[in-house]
Amino acid sequence: MSKKIIITIDGWSSCGKSTLAKQLATALGYVYIDSGAMYRAITLYFLRNHIDWTDEKEVVIALENIILDFQFNPKTQQSEIILNGENVEYVIRDLVIAEKVSDVAAIKQVRSFAVAQQQLMGNKKGIVMDGRDIGTTVFPKAELKIFMTADSSVRVERRFKEFFEKNPNITFDEVKSNLELRDYIDSNREISPLRKANDAYVLDNTMMSMEEQFKIAKKLVDEKLA
Ligand code: C5P
Repeated sequence: MSKKIIITIDGWSSCGKSTLAKQLATALGYVYIDSGAMYRAITLYFLRNHIDWTDEKEVVIALENIILDFQFNPKTQQSEIILNGENVEYVIRDLVIAEKVSDVAAIKQVRSFAVAQQQLMGNKKGIVMDGRDIGTTVFPKAELKIFMTADSSVRVERRFKEFFEKNPNITFDEVKSNLELRDYIDSNREISPLRKANDAYVLDNTMMSMEEQFKIAKKLVDEKLA
């Protein structure tokens, strides 16, 4: 059987991590896991159920009632997140969730809950996972770690375009301040802050096409598999 590795892709919000992760997973026949979707789904559950996430006890009880799963959708050729049996892949992309997710993701119990499940998913290797702490905390021994970055103006522009297609009422400033706030909270929180792992390869895709970034990453994978 051919060698299988774990590939981690971390980095700032909206710098194309999931695009690259999906490209690699498809090319290699690996599983792709969007760890951010897990934090978003937990946030959705907390909001829907009016959980006071400053109350540790409430958080613990709420987490006991959450089952997360990923299901492959043959139509979109993507794995989608399932929260307690409901496909929430599209609902969790809303700005309402984006505005709260970094606060929820900074909670100790929430991180232990998500990280334990993420580590189980990597048991058999052959996985590409993207997020903020995948190369540092979830899979510190991963064979290939990529840290993605891009100029903030380019990142805001990309995310604004994406949002605007779904909701023309959204403003550029709303998107910009959300990205800035999330990056700030994610990189300053106490537990597993967003950091480049020492052994991660930095990929700055500010001036790159999707094809170019894939080519570079694929070369890194090939070197690891050689
Ligand atoms: O990747 P995405 O932007 O969907 O992630 C949403 C949020 O989830 C991030 O802003 C961050 O607060 C949190 N997150 C995290 N750790 C990860 C992945 C995401 O804290 N591994």
